[in-house]
Amino acid sequence: MAAYEYETHEYDVVVVGAGGSGLRATLGMAEQGLRTACVTKVFPTRSHTVAAQGGIAASLGNMGPDSWQWHMYDTVKGSDWLGDTDAMEYLAREAPKAVYELEHYGVPFSRTEEGKIYQRPFGGHTTEYGEGPPVQRTCAAADRTGHAILHTLYGQSLKNNAEFFIEYFAIDLIMSEDGQCQGVVCWKLDDGTIHIFNAKMVVLATGGYGRAYFSATSAHTCTGDGGGMAARAGLPLQDMEFVQFHPTGIYGSGCLITEGARGEGGYVTNSEGERFMERYAPTYKDLASRDVVSRCMTIEIREGRGVGPNGDHIHLHLNHLPPETLQLRLPGISESARVFAGVDVTKEPIPVIPTVHYNMGGIPTNYWGEVLNPTKDNPDAVAPGLMAVGEAGCASVHGANRLGSNSLIDLVVFGRAAAIRAAQVVDADTPNPVLNQASIDKALDRFDGLRHAKGAVPTAELRLEMQKTMQDDAAVFRTDKTLAEGVKKMEAVAAKQSDLAVSDRSLIWNSDLMETLELTNLMPNALATIVSAEARKESRGAHAHEDYPDRDDKEWRKHSLAWVEGNKTTLDYRPVHLDPLTKAKDGGIDLKKIAPKARVY
Ligand SMILES: Cc1cc2nc3c(=O)[nH]c(=O)nc-3n(C[C@H](O)[C@H](O)[C@H](O)COP(=O)(O)OP(=O)(O)OC[C@H]3O[C@@H](n4cnc5c(N)ncnc54)[C@H](O)[C@@H]3O)c2cc1C
Repeated sequence: MAAYEYETHEYDVVVVGAGGSGLRATLGMAEQGLRTACVTKVFPTRSHTVAAQGGIAASLGNMGPDSWQWHMYDTVKGSDWLGDTDAMEYLAREAPKAVYELEHYGVPFSRTEEGKIYQRPFGGHTTEYGEGPPVQRTCAAADRTGHAILHTLYGQSLKNNAEFFIEYFAIDLIMSEDGQCQGVVCWKLDDGTIHIFNAKMVVLATGGYGRAYFSATSAHTCTGDGGGMAARAGLPLQDMEFVQFHPTGIYGSGCLITEGARGEGGYVTNSEGERFMERYAPTYKDLASRDVVSRCMTIEIREGRGVGPNGDHIHLHLNHLPPETLQLRLPGISESARVFAGVDVTKEPIPVIPTVHYNMGGIPTNYWGEVLNPTKDNPDAVAPGLMAVGEAGCASVHGANRLGSNSLIDLVVFGRAAAIRAAQVVDADTPNPVLNQASIDKALDRFDGLRHAKGAVPTAELRLEMQKTMQDDAAVFRTDKTLAEGVKKMEAVAAKQSDLAVSDRSLIWNSDLMETLELTNLMPNALATIVSAEARKESRGAHAHEDYPDRDDKEWRKHSLAWVEGNKTTLDYRPVHLDPLTKAKDGGIDLKKIAPKARVY
């Protein structure tokens, strides 16, 4: 057994992650007087949320008529009828409250002439249950909305005496014999010490796993650590086959150009200069849902109408917009285009390509953020002591496809919900759970094993192999053949984890070891993604299966669950929640409005 000394810290709640969701949860818990620690592997304001550009959706109605029911309808349709109805209602109803709270906390939103929060159009957000024109629902702080939110929430958390443990890497959850989460084992990156956080509630807010793919808009830190920890604790991952490709990543670098660019009037063209989205989505055109625009772009490229010397990308035009608008509303992406594509957006189009952007799947939760550990008798059974929020979780509000600006609102609505729930279930006056030593030892043994790994395959090499496999075989379009091959390849790649080579044995700023731990977290996420995709014989949202081009609600309107152990994945399913929180007669949505139908934009 590995001998490591460690320091033990006791809190009511420990939140792992300081992105938008982790900070909103931390702030909410601390505000209610729970002793709250937030553990994060990067400085809070360097979390990927800082890069969010376009904005945050809420039906404030500042720019014209809007309602939470319309927002809910758009979310249901965006999810391609895979989202949980109760959670989607909660999101749409609570969104305005959560945004006004952010405003009062001090987020510097852009303003209208009258001083109201400015809102812009975004893909898939409409009026009149998809019958009316696009709505201006996305609240923005220019094109640096995530930056503004993150800085504000961090300041507020400090003000409320939350305690931060910065540059601490969470290795594994501590679980009791009967499946209760009791805390988390962490490695302090700058001095090599080990820290045990003992808590009544652990909240995973570790973000997405975009880096399982070769080309992604997400930060290099987005390695699905929460999903990895959950999988090792024997918990399933849900709906992992649904990976969002954003239509406009900069060709070559993968850096994002926000959908807000199209919201402000930008459009895409092919090599013939044609605004091809008019052909595919006659009503909402360039503001159709993301999965739709990404597929149309891919079809244009495949059919020989891509731009550039290799005909392998598409043009995004902003050059027809007034330079003042670009300056005021899109300053950040104007700079990104200059730096990463060498383009002056006032004069030339930006070269773009669909790029991995968001993970709809994650650790299954209810709409309070409580993690689910489904059993045969109870598909909604709760795993005690554990919550998951933000991109790491799957509530599920995004179902098979997330609408733009619905993630930032998911972070704050469910971060807040988790805090409200924790105040109900966590009793600050009772003693903390007695830690299961066997679980701590297991985590430290795994850590020590990787630290001294003497195999033949360097981490960077295996990571690249995984990323290329996922990029090729779990892509925008999928077939039985590519998926079956992909599963085989990924199982072989994952098996090589036992043959990893780590060269640095130190404990201080050992990036080799940290990246290895991250790789072992990416791996179960990647496996769950491709195995769940291979099994799903239909097309829905981001899962576009060429051999089964239609959605099959009879057979497949259900959530995939994937348990991953080593390189083996076991699948099962749980039903989609069809009941709303509020009945129509009590002011809820008319269920006829959200009955499944063909998804056209
Ligand atoms: C470029 C870009 C632009 C986007 N723009 C928008 C937008 O305009 N609107 C919108 O709605 N959505 C947008 N999204 C999506 C949205 O920003 C993300 O889904 C969201 O920010 C994720 O937030 P999070 O709180 O879940 O995690 P993150 O912000 O990714 O934070 C994860 C946190 O977990 C910590 N962590 C992870 N692993 C560990 C570990 N092992 N130990 C300790 N700490 C750990 C990290 O330190 C970090 O603090 C965008 C995404 C990208 C990539």
